[in-house]
Amino acid sequence: MSLKGKFARLLGGMLLKTARVASVEAVGRGFQRLLLHGDVPTPRAGTKVQLLLPSDEMRTYSPIAAPDGITLLGYKHAGGPGARWMCEVKAGDNVRFAGPQRSLELPAGPVILVGDETSVAVASAFEAERPGEVHAVFQVDAIEDVHVAVGAMGLRRATVVPRGGTYDVVEAVLAARAAAPSASLALTGGSELVVAARAALRARSLHDIKTKPYWVPGSAGLD
Ligand SMILES: Cc1cc2nc3c(=O)[nH]c(=O)nc-3n(C[C@H](O)[C@H](O)[C@H](O)COP(=O)(O)OP(=O)(O)OC[C@H]3O[C@@H](n4cnc5c(N)ncnc54)[C@H](O)[C@@H]3O)c2cc1C
Repeated sequence: MSLKGKFARLLGGMLLKTARVASVEAVGRGFQRLLLHGDVPTPRAGTKVQLLLPSDEMRTYSPIAAPDGITLLGYKHAGGPGARWMCEVKAGDNVRFAGPQRSLELPAGPVILVGDETSVAVASAFEAERPGEVHAVFQVDAIEDVHVAVGAMGLRRATVVPRGGTYDVVEAVLAARAAAPSASLALTGGSELVVAARAALRARSLHDIKTKPYWVPGSAGLD
């Protein structure tokens, strides 16, 4: 149990909203897609919600606007209470959360979004808000699972490359920038990818880069 989660539960009535899990759907082997109904304001792309888990931990996810609420897409293999809850949650459960709150703010127009398994949701949120204007570049371990998720979430343009050095990421970003020179560029996902990709892109003279790490190896619940 985290102090933040304990505090949120104590003050929950004032701080937290409640939604009902309307549906839970496995997206391939790697992801769980949840539809939440209830006291849920329509989220803007790039916002976050912080869920209060039954274990009193808080974990952060990227909400996607849906007709009757919000959709969450959770990676099931992150390794902690957030991923476990994603695997166990059932339709009809209630979930308490803070947000949506600002997280990744990008100017209107096309977007190049780099990330990993945890970034498919934020890319999908921008795709829902800016159809056809998103090029996602995912560097992942779970290549097949991410391909399935990209299809299921309706991401029109996504490049999926294996975890490793930054060469493939940089080449994909440069190609996307050549196709959309005004696109804003954001780096998300694990901190090692964010740091390495930023350095490699700067070395190729790309400087106007937003960064938002989603997890750090060895630390729990970054946000
Ligand atoms: C603004 C924001 C938005 C986010 N949106 C989403 C989203 O929409 N969908 C989503 O799935 N995740 C998202 N994340 C990431 C998610 O919050 C983390 O992966 C979260 O820490 C997982 O919680 P956990 O309890 O399973 O693991 P933790 O208890 O947080 O971590 C346990 C261990 O696993 C490691 N770890 C954590 N995450 C990962 C990972 N992804 N891959 C490999 N190892 C990991 C940690 O370093 C730690 O050692 C977001 C994070 C932020 C900050």
